[in-house]
Amino acid sequence: MARSLTILGATGSIGRSATDVILAHRAELSIEAVVGGSNAEALANVARRLGARFAALADEKGGAALKEALSGSGVASGAGESAVIEAAQRESDVVLAAISGTAGLRPTHAALKAGRRIALANKESLVCAGAAFMADASRLGAEIMPVDSEHNALDQALAAGANRDVEKAIITATGGPFRTWTRERIATASAQEASAHPVWSMGSKINIDSATLMNKGLELIEAHHLFGLEAGRLDVIVHPEAIVHGLVQWRDGAVTAGLALPDMKVPIANALRHRERLPMDLPRLDLAAIGRLSFEKPDETRFPCLALAKAALEAGGAMPTVLNAANEIAVAAYMAGRIGFYDISENVERVCSNFARGSVAAPASVPDALVIDKEAREAARRLIPAYA
Ligand code: NAD
Ligand code: MG
Repeated sequence: MARSLTILGATGSIGRSATDVILAHRAELSIEAVVGGSNAEALANVARRLGARFAALADEKGGAALKEALSGSGVASGAGESAVIEAAQRESDVVLAAISGTAGLRPTHAALKAGRRIALANKESLVCAGAAFMADASRLGAEIMPVDSEHNALDQALAAGANRDVEKAIITATGGPFRTWTRERIATASAQEASAHPVWSMGSKINIDSATLMNKGLELIEAHHLFGLEAGRLDVIVHPEAIVHGLVQWRDGAVTAGLALPDMKVPIANALRHRERLPMDLPRLDLAAIGRLSFEKPDETRFPCLALAKAALEAGGAMPTVLNAANEIAVAAYMAGRIGFYDISENVERVCSNFARGSVAAPASVPDALVIDKEAREAARRLIPAYA
C-alpha cells in the first residue's frame, strides 16, 4: 500500500534526494505536505513536482510569492511558523525531518506529538532535546527511523542481535576536507575550503560540521539516544571511502556492518519504508572495483570538536544542548567570515565550561530544552566580535 509522506526541509540536500526517491516510486510513496525555509519558488517547484496537497514556507514574508508561484496548481499553501506546524501535523504515514539545525526541533516534535512516524535526518533535534524527545516518542508509540547514513547502517546491523549483547557500536567518518591537512593550514582555512566535502554533497551547516568533525560528535550523541547505548559503547573511526557506514561489535567478537555506496538516497529509501525495502535503481557496490578500504583513528588534536562532543555526551545533563547551540552560532559566524576555524571549537569549549559551573539537569521537555538552547546561543553570540 502507498505510504503518504510529509517532508520538512523539502528544498534542501536531503529533501532533493528524497524527491528523487519518491519520483521513482510514485505507486509506493505519495506526498501530503512539503515545508521549506525561505525560498518560495524552490518550494513551489518541489510541491508541484511531487503533487503535494499543502506547502508551508517558514519565512512569513514569502507567503505571497509562494501563493503566486503555486497558482493554478491546486496546492494549498501557508507561511510562518503556524503553517509549518500545520504541515508537520497533517495526516501522513511518515514525516521526513530534514530541516537543518535546531530550527527543525519544533516542527519535528509537533509531528511526533501528532503520532507521526518520523524518518529523522535532523540530528540537531536529538542533540538538543534527546532524552525528552525520545521519552515523548516512546510514550506516544511513535517510531523513529534514522536517515543519517551511519545510524541507518547501525539500525540495520543492530537488528542482528540484542542491545545487551552490543559491546560497541562504531560510526565511520570520512574525515572531511581537512583530514590530511596540518593544524597550521587548517587554522587559516576559509569557509569555502571547509565546504568542499570529499564525498558527500550536503547543506552548508553540516558541511562545516563535517570539516570540524563536530558532525561525528553530534552523531555519537544522536546514536546514544536512538539506540540507548551509553558513551562507553560508542565509537568513531575514520574511513575516507565512506563505504562502511556503521559497525556493531557483539560480545562474542562477531561484527555486523552496514555497507553501501555513499548516496543518501539509500538510507532515505530505507527509512521511508523501513523494514519493507524499496527496489532502488542505483549503482551497486562493487568491492572488487574499489579494491581497498582504509581506516584510521580520528585526530582530536586537529579536530577538537570531536573531543568536546564526546565530553558533552559523557557529562550528560544539559551539556549536549549547550554544545549544540554554541556550535550553531559559531558555525554561522565562521561562515560569515567573522571568526576563524579554530574559534569554532574554542567558543564551544568556553560556552560549555562556563555552563558546567552551574551544571543543569537534562531538559525534562522539549520546551525546556529550547530555553537552555536560547541561553547558550546568547552566551555564544557574546563571544563573536561583530555581535558583541
Ligand atoms: P540543507 O541546508 O541543504 O537544507 C535544509 C532545509 O531546511 C531546506 O529545505 C531549508 O529551506 C529548510 N529550512 C531551513 N531553516 C528552516 C526553518 N527555520 N524552518 C523550516 N525549514 C527550514 O541541509 P541538509 O544537508 O539537507 O541537512 C538537513 C538535515 O539533515 C540536517 O540536520 C543535517 O545534519 C541532516 N543530514 C544531512 C545529510 C546530507 O547528506 N545532506 C546527511 C545526514 C544528515
Ligand atoms: Mg552522517
